[in-house]
Amino acid sequence: MKILIIEDEPKTGEYLRQGLTEAGFVVDLARNGDDGLHLALNGAFDLVVLDVMLPGIDGWDVLQTLRSRGLGMPVLFLTARDQVEDRIRGLELGADDYLVKPFSFAELLARVRTVLRRGRTLPETTSLRVADLELDQLRRRVTRAGRRIDLTAKEFGLLELLMRRQGEVLPRSLIASQVWDMNFDSDTNVIEVAIRRLRGKVDDGHDLKLIQTVRGMGYVLEDAGVS
Ligand code: CA
Repeated sequence: MKILIIEDEPKTGEYLRQGLTEAGFVVDLARNGDDGLHLALNGAFDLVVLDVMLPGIDGWDVLQTLRSRGLGMPVLFLTARDQVEDRIRGLELGADDYLVKPFSFAELLARVRTVLRRGRTLPETTSLRVADLELDQLRRRVTRAGRRIDLTAKEFGLLELLMRRQGEVLPRSLIASQVWDMNFDSDTNVIEVAIRRLRGKVDDGHDLKLIQTVRGMGYVLEDAGVS
């Protein structure tokens, strides 16, 4: 799945590029409306994440031009504007969804998936599996050995990240930026607490413990066999 981001704020653009790449998408980033439009017209993208206020031609014009040239790929507006009129204008011009800054990456990702699912193109895989643990990304459901596990949104995001990168030791800083959209002080125990809760829900009552702490490094989820 190929996503085009048109965003002039370098930090936001990079953050989106990194997050969506981590989520398994192929991502191109344009920093102004003209480059973005040129790429969108020529690049066969499955979805465009489009900022409204851009140097050169703005997001409205980009969208209008795409639609007038017969390109119907989903467009998700991303903007600091939060006026009702702006939302209506965006939707009338043919945007598929509208997200107001500041936003959480988890919400953006959920909306990207929803918009893609609505369209004709379905993601190839919608569920992650490690041993008897299964996470359904579209239905937002987790089961272990066939039994449903109830998770909070943060726990779900954390588990999704660990499963997507199974076998890889993930440092806290990466978990903080990916799941909490922020950087924590290194002495915070927010992640530790969340991991403990998640481990309780996922591993308690099972001989095979999937979530491991790697001292001084971070956390890993893997099927390491029964010890
Ligand atoms: Ca902007």
